Amino acid sequence: MNAPHPAAIRPPCVALLSRVLDMRYLGPAFQALRPDIAWRTVDNLGKPEDIDAAVCWLPPAGLLRTLPNLRLIQSIGAGVDHIYADPGIPLGVPVCRIAETGMADGMTTYVTWAVINHHRHFPDYVRNHAQGLWRESPIVPPSAHRVAVAGLGRLGLKAASALAALGYPVSGWSRTPKPDLPEGVTGYHGTDGLPALLANADTLVCLLPLTDETRGFLNATTFSQLPKGAHVINAGRGEHLDAQALLNALDTGQLSYATLDATPEEPLPADHVLWRHPRVLVTPHIATRTPAAAIAAQTLENLNLVLCGKRPDTCADATLGY
Ligand code: NDP
Repeated sequence: MNAPHPAAIRPPCVALLSRVLDMRYLGPAFQALRPDIAWRTVDNLGKPEDIDAAVCWLPPAGLLRTLPNLRLIQSIGAGVDHIYADPGIPLGVPVCRIAETGMADGMTTYVTWAVINHHRHFPDYVRNHAQGLWRESPIVPPSAHRVAVAGLGRLGLKAASALAALGYPVSGWSRTPKPDLPEGVTGYHGTDGLPALLANADTLVCLLPLTDETRGFLNATTFSQLPKGAHVINAGRGEHLDAQALLNALDTGQLSYATLDATPEEPLPADHVLWRHPRVLVTPHIATRTPAAAIAAQTLENLNLVLCGKRPDTCADATLGY
């Protein structure tokens, strides 16, 4: 029989690891749930052998493999691409994502706002307002504006469902078939399903995870298959987007507008052309967030499951990359 893992008999030790964020904001949330917990940061790692779980956002490259007793790698977001980007992550340690209703609700508000903002010409009205200009733009009913959501996961499915409830004809795209989609959402899947999805998209929303298969999804070929004048929303990852292809498609009129919450560089430098393009709206990766309390709760729950020999259902599949 295997000896129990040390964290099963003593308070757990959690490392909060990021090379871009100050992760100390999570400490109190862990302590609120487990006052006896030990939490460490990159600057104060203590003994590597003590660490049971690593809670990560872009962890320093190579650090995870130096933690010999690590039982769980927990992302603080829905995506795990920032963890798999480190080729040295220890094999066999489960990598989990956050799955939380509030996060999907937040994304739904962002995506519905972005669809409505462009479809109802609000950027024009904001410009007109600044000049005191009373001028009407064409009023197209939602039923005549088709929305396609690429990625029908926890976030995409909820956004698709909300848009369908508002009267938009919605289609969605996934890797595998989805037999039970909500009313008003038509499903397509796999490479074969992509042309039909794109041909029927006045607005295309990218809510895919970043994997080897989806990197660069928003490219010249994709844009050329959309109806002329389509709107593109990228709420996935910056690496989904070929920014030059986007600018070209905007300049030829193939695309009319782009709403980008994820950009190829983050933070996007102040002099980047995407800030200055009149038909691009950039937001600073704010579509949704996970509250610290939910991160702490899911980490502790997942660690408990792993220590009991169970696999949390929010574990990513290392071969698929999401
Ligand atoms: P999920 O893992 O729950 O869902 C991913 C979806 O994408 C699934 O429907 C999956 O198909 C589909 N998919 C994956 N690979 C392919 C492929 N090759 N072709 C077609 N479809 C594919 O992810 P979430 O919905 O939780 O999150 C999506 C992404 O949103 C995250 O990975 C992250 O990058 C981004 N995000 C952005 C935030 C922001 O603030 N901007 C915040 C949070 C997340 P299947 O169902 O068949 O597996």
